[in-house]
Order: sequence, then structure tokens, then C-alpha cells
Amino acid sequence: MADQPRKPPKQPQTTSKRQWSLSDFDVGKPLGKGRFGRVYLAREIKSKYIVALKVIFKEQIEKHGLQHQLRREMEIQTALRHPNVLRLHGWFHDNERIFLILEYAHGGELYRQLRKLGHLTETQAATYIASLTEALLYCHDKHVIHRDIKPENLLLDHEGRLKIADFGWSVQSRSKRHTMCGTLDYLAPEMVERKAHDYAVDNWTLGILCYEFLYGVPPFEAESQMDTFERIKKIDLAFPSTSDVSAEAKDLISRLLVKDSSKRLSLEKIMGHPWIVKNANSMGICSN
Ligand code: AMP
Repeated sequence: MADQPRKPPKQPQTTSKRQWSLSDFDVGKPLGKGRFGRVYLAREIKSKYIVALKVIFKEQIEKHGLQHQLRREMEIQTALRHPNVLRLHGWFHDNERIFLILEYAHGGELYRQLRKLGHLTETQAATYIASLTEALLYCHDKHVIHRDIKPENLLLDHEGRLKIADFGWSVQSRSKRHTMCGTLDYLAPEMVERKAHDYAVDNWTLGILCYEFLYGVPPFEAESQMDTFERIKKIDLAFPSTSDVSAEAKDLISRLLVKDSSKRLSLEKIMGHPWIVKNANSMGICSN
């Protein structure tokens, strides 16, 4: 991590090129804890711009041999500019720690909202799916496949706008839902079967998320990891009759959870799907 390029936050930037250090920030309350460190609310002193400062311990990264992956993630995320992709404004480091200067997502994890509400309304679900689709169209255009989209990696800003976080990085991080099959629930069949995979894995995940937003649980959840594997491989998809989810929503889910990845609905077609057109808020803003 010795000589990475440093990019200052766009908004807090006061001079052209500068190196950031901890003394540029007032560090406030902890926002959360990840596998390799903590995230704090912070304010860049000169501009008073509020950010989230993610502190990662170098020792932990080195212990797990993740230096290259972290660097790659930082490079990818710094280059992405989209309203639904969490901005990484820049980074700096000291002897023990790496600090990521992140856009602050005031609304926290979408996962928490989902657990609090049980399930989302069709308007909320369609708005989030449309925002995610827009973000993925942008990422795929830049040849970035996320591969690890799940509610824990989706944050909300102060207006309820969805932000994709953790680029390629959280693939390695311990799932917060390990006890309930963890990330397996979001894996496309080609990944479960360890076959080659491409952009279409993200389209599959949109189907999983759409189901989970509307029903509160992912579609292939099972008692054991083996059972989840089997259900994904067989596309053992069922829509509980106890719920009043619309036929159009089920149609979109069924067109995304397709075994043959080349037959999954494209991102462009998701945006034109009647359920999205009818329900999604065009501003991408959701009040819960
Ligand atoms: P992570 O290490 O990325 O898993 O982050 C740990 C926790 O910190 C997350 O679960 C969030 O609740 C919180 N968090 C991470 N990044 C941000 C951010 N940019 N804005 C607000 N909260 C965040």
C-alpha cells in the first residue's frame, strides 16, 4: 500500500492536488463495523464536508493476502461516478491503517430497512430495482461486474436513494448472514456449478433481490447450504400464495431467474418492463 495515487474528495477539495491525512478530518461517531475495521462519520475540516471514513487495518489485509484485491477495489470504485454507486472520494494511510474517504450514506443499510419492514411495497421494490439496474448498466458499460450484490452491500442516502457499495471487495468479507446460508442465496446457478460466468450473474441477482424485497426472504433459502445449492441448480422457484404480489412483479422475477444466462432479461429490457415502468419512482427516491 506504499505508493497509491491519492484522490481528494471532490466536494471537500479546496486546493488542486493534496495528500490527505487523519488531521484533515474531525472523526465522529462509529457508523458500523466490518470484518477488517470500522466506519466512522467524519467531517473534512476545511470544507466541513461530511464523509464516512472507513478504517482498515493493514495487518488484517496482509494476513489474508488481500492487498491486491483491496487496491483493485479502490481503483475501480474511485473511477465510478453514478448517483447509485457509493463514491470513494480518495484514500490515505499511516503505518497501521488504510483510510477510505467514502460518500456518507445517511440512511444506512437497505438490509436493515428490509428487516424492519418485513418486506417492501411494490413502489419501493421497483424503485430500488430500477436504481440498481441503472447502476449496473453504467458498471457493465465500464466492464465492471459486481458479483456480490446483496442487501448488506446496498446503502441508502438521506433521501432514500440506493447506493451500491463494496466493489468486488465484499466477495471476500465474511457474510453477516452466515448463519442463514450467507451469500449463497444470491449466487447464480453458473457460479454454484463453478462454470464460467459473465455479466448475466448480476441480472440473476436482480431477480433474487426483487423477490426478497417483495417477500422478505430470498427465493432459494433453505435449512442447509447444500439444500440452497440444490434449489438454485433446479431453479426451484415458488411464489407464496399468501402474499398479494402482483402478476407483473412475478413475471419480471421469472424472466430473471432463468438457468440459461443468455436468456435472462437484459438490463435495458428490465427498465422497459411494465412492472418497473408502472411502479418505479423516476427520481430513484423512496420514503420508507
Ligand atoms: P463495511 O465494513 O463496509 O461492511 O461497513 C460496516 C458498516 O458500516 C456497514 O454495515 C454500514 O452500516 C456502515 N457503513 C459503511 N459504509 C458506510 C457509508 N458510506 N455511510 C454510512 N454507513 C456506512
